[in-house]
Amino acid sequence: MREWLAEVDRWLERFRDEAQPPEPFARALTDGWRDGEREALAESAQTLERESAAYVEQLRASGVDLVRFDCKSGSCSVCVRYCGKAYSLAEDGDLPPPPPMPICPACRHVLNMLTPFFMQRTGVTLDDLLDEAEPFRD
Ligand SMILES: [Zn+2]
Repeated sequence: MREWLAEVDRWLERFRDEAQPPEPFARALTDGWRDGEREALAESAQTLERESAAYVEQLRASGVDLVRFDCKSGSCSVCVRYCGKAYSLAEDGDLPPPPPMPICPACRHVLNMLTPFFMQRTGVTLDDLLDEAEPFRD
């Protein structure tokens, strides 16, 4: 488990130089945190981390290898480059492993299964996914 209060503080500094930092960091940078807001943000990020880890375990146990990193609109500049990219849950998969979930405490992203059926129906091949792969780097 990550230390989310420390991460919130670290990301606040990281977002300081951004032209358009995501909420609630944008407001915290100008007005400071409201009562309990920093703690609530850390807690919701921790919940998401726990839920994502459980979900990934479930997918692995079901033999799912390929997942797609899906984002809600308004992702921050750090997270946005990974939106829509494919990752491998397998130890020695062709694609890179997924980014840590969540990447930052501001964004709410989710890993979705890429099933063979979906790929066939949408005409997406593993080569396409490899061409567009975006390995996570901190
Ligand atoms: Zn983000």
